[in-house]
Amino acid sequence: MTGRFAPSPTGRMHLGNVYCAVLSWLSARQQGGRWLLRIEDLDPQRSRREYAGQMMDDLRWLGLEWDEEPVCQSERTDLYAEYFKRLSETAHVYPCYCRRADLLAAGAPHASDGMPIYPGTCRHLATAPTGRTPAWRVEVPDRSITFTDLYKGEVTRNLAHDVGDFIVRRSDGVYAYQLAVVVDDALTGVTEVVRGEDLLTSAAQQIFLYERLSLPCPTFGHVPLLCAADGRRLCKRDKDMDMECLRSRYTPAELLGIIAHKAGLQEDDTPITLEKLFRAPLQLTPKWGEDLNG
Ligand code: GLU
Repeated sequence: MTGRFAPSPTGRMHLGNVYCAVLSWLSARQQGGRWLLRIEDLDPQRSRREYAGQMMDDLRWLGLEWDEEPVCQSERTDLYAEYFKRLSETAHVYPCYCRRADLLAAGAPHASDGMPIYPGTCRHLATAPTGRTPAWRVEVPDRSITFTDLYKGEVTRNLAHDVGDFIVRRSDGVYAYQLAVVVDDALTGVTEVVRGEDLLTSAAQQIFLYERLSLPCPTFGHVPLLCAADGRRLCKRDKDMDMECLRSRYTPAELLGIIAHKAGLQEDDTPITLEKLFRAPLQLTPKWGEDLNG
């Protein structure tokens, strides 16, 4: 059994990120499994080395130790290129010249993440526009993909309706998260993915890629996103919830107490050590929705 945590080093981690880290660590360790750390620094414009360093420092501060050298996605481009090629042999992967702005302006229906559902404009393009570098999309099937999520139960998505053909390689040559995450989880032997609920639809996209690439698919567990006081989901701009601020206000045991309470692992937010959490049965009943606020 192998779990993992795969943060993007685009800012200091916030309470929501460490909440996912703790829950995935606990699940893996309680099953006697390995727990891996992967730095998802695919996007050279948004990723910074110093954020990766801070992440590791924040995880260690909480007592979350990982196994093996962390994998950095920025060093694995050749591998993604190889699997991109493989995917092109088992699925319809095609160049797409649409600009993001055109898609947004087209008023197409939007997926839950606010991105337009790709209408398939370039799917069977006879001639390519000159002077533009394409992104590459994979054609998705019009059928239900169903999986059993550890926390959400049965989840069904139809990629043709919910997402549309999605990008596997960006026009700037960067391989897309969806492809990289599948290649990395499969090749590092990850068997359980615990992460935030915002990636529920991504799980269906990833299951489709696992199938096409004949790679072993992990079990998924999506936990609720923590919200800021005004009900918005936390993001890296919420400075009062980032690790710099949290570390100045709380001890590790105090912060773990808060996380354990939000995850439904204890009645209140009494400080608790990782050791103690580890020894308690992991009967995760995350508090969904409004209870998580504040
Ligand atoms: N890198 C993604 C993030 O920080 C998480 C990806 C994943 O867990 O699959 O949101």
